[in-house]
Amino acid sequence: MAPGREHPLRIAIVGGGTAGWMAASLMAKRWHGRAVEITVLESPEIGIVGVGEGSTPQLHAFFEILGIEEAEWMPRCNATYKAAIRSVGWSTRPGHESYFHPFKNDLDDRSAPAYYFNTVMRRRGADVYAHPDRFFINTALAERRLAPLPEYHFPFKAYYGYHFDAVAIGAFLREWSKARGVRHVEGTVARVALDEQGDIAALHLSDGRSLDADFYVDATGFRSLLLQQSLGIAFVPFAENLFNDSAVAMPTPHAGEAIAPHTTATSLSAGWVWHIPLTNRVGNGYVYSSRYLDRDRAETELRAHLGLLESDVPARHLAMRVGRVTQPWARNCLAVGLSQGFIEPLEATALHLVQETIEGFIEAYTRGGFGPEHRDAFNREINARFEGVRDYIVCRYRMNTRVDTEYWRDCAANDRISDALRQVLACWFAGGDLVAEIARLGIGLWFGELSWHCLLGGYGLYPEATRPATAREFRFDIAKISEFIDRCTLNFPGHGKALGELGR
Ligand SMILES: Cc1cc2nc3c(=O)[nH]c(=O)nc-3n(C[C@H](O)[C@H](O)[C@H](O)COP(=O)(O)OP(=O)(O)OC[C@H]3O[C@@H](n4cnc5c(N)ncnc54)[C@H](O)[C@@H]3O)c2cc1C
Repeated sequence: MAPGREHPLRIAIVGGGTAGWMAASLMAKRWHGRAVEITVLESPEIGIVGVGEGSTPQLHAFFEILGIEEAEWMPRCNATYKAAIRSVGWSTRPGHESYFHPFKNDLDDRSAPAYYFNTVMRRRGADVYAHPDRFFINTALAERRLAPLPEYHFPFKAYYGYHFDAVAIGAFLREWSKARGVRHVEGTVARVALDEQGDIAALHLSDGRSLDADFYVDATGFRSLLLQQSLGIAFVPFAENLFNDSAVAMPTPHAGEAIAPHTTATSLSAGWVWHIPLTNRVGNGYVYSSRYLDRDRAETELRAHLGLLESDVPARHLAMRVGRVTQPWARNCLAVGLSQGFIEPLEATALHLVQETIEGFIEAYTRGGFGPEHRDAFNREINARFEGVRDYIVCRYRMNTRVDTEYWRDCAANDRISDALRQVLACWFAGGDLVAEIARLGIGLWFGELSWHCLLGGYGLYPEATRPATAREFRFDIAKISEFIDRCTLNFPGHGKALGELGR
């Protein structure tokens, strides 16, 4: 029984997309054995957004919390391992046309300090090697198409995310949650009734049924039917510094080569395209700004990029609402997923934020029930996460060096950036210690020092002129570091082999 309650705590989750089912499964797991009744209501007429196929390592933690083995869920979702994100064409600086942003590996503690040191020396003009791609294990694994799973005799923690089928993962979690007592109702909410205090009192469905609960989770996607439309919680758009508001997606078959254990993000004329390899196909999508490109031209550009100009593979067009709500938890309602906010998919952070939101809510509720003190702290924390993730992605656009289209020129000229981002950039360009600066600003929880160094060093944001390095500056020999990384990669299996080990 929940504290102070005479009947079980009744939670109604509205929405059966990935966010709704992640919420249901985490709550069912965390509150197992407590008097909590969870219902998921979803509308078969409306359907789910059906995109969102890349994750951060947080999804690994999610399945660990649920106690679900990779061999159980990965084959069902055509999932592959993701060691890194490779960015292509964001910088025009020679030698920096592409770079990897790897997920951290325990072994990186040996080589990362060398990279950070070299970026400082290079920023101060010394001629030392300072491209991130030769310093990190997951980058080497991604380049060689090896899985980020060490052999059993090589006990190092390798953090990694996944690529997966967005529809299949929801279906998997639905089945799992239902087997653990979560009730599933199909129906469309036509009206949300409020009580005299302004809390949600009941949901009235289009077929005449109603549903009431003690607490409601709004997982209705971009509509945000409960939190924004019914409770009137404000939305803060990020359009002033994140221009993209549209996407067009289409799959391609594998080209016959080994599956790459990384996402590729390639810049196009008014945005970028993702390539996400699953076991059965590659997902591709062009994320762009409708202010600079209309949907037909975006689709044609994507088809040309994929070599599909003559093909009749259907394209899916999507509108994106980028920003966040002011209060994800208001009254007796919590918004998760797209109803809560969305920061375009460049770093595949959406499901990460979904998980953080649900976990934070469960913790706050378990500590203090529905009291305002925990709720307000929770809202502040989640909003800070959104801002932190946004800053990193804004930096990706702000620091691009393409000048060939108006879109990229406007991104580079856009000075509406946060104070925190301004200070990160000031430190970088002054040749300062960015590790210390990130710690001082307290922003490392969202994107840590490795991520920031890979971005800024990956773009090659160094002075053009160099001078020979002194002995003190030339402390790390890149040949030796590469040798170390090479030796380590011998202990990781190929991606195909690792998937084979899952019993496929
Ligand atoms: C172009 C694009 C690319 C993305 N890429 C990534 C990525 O790589 N990685 C990542 O982590 N995330 C990504 N995302 C985000 C990701 O897709 C979403 O976070 C995720 O799918 C969760 O969506 P959702 O469950 O919030 O909403 P949806 O999938 O839209 O689900 C909404 C649910 O609400 C229900 N519903 C709506 N109205 C009603 C009603 N009136 N009555 C009853 N039910 C209702 C619908 O039936 C549906 O079940 C991407 C998003 C976009 C747009």
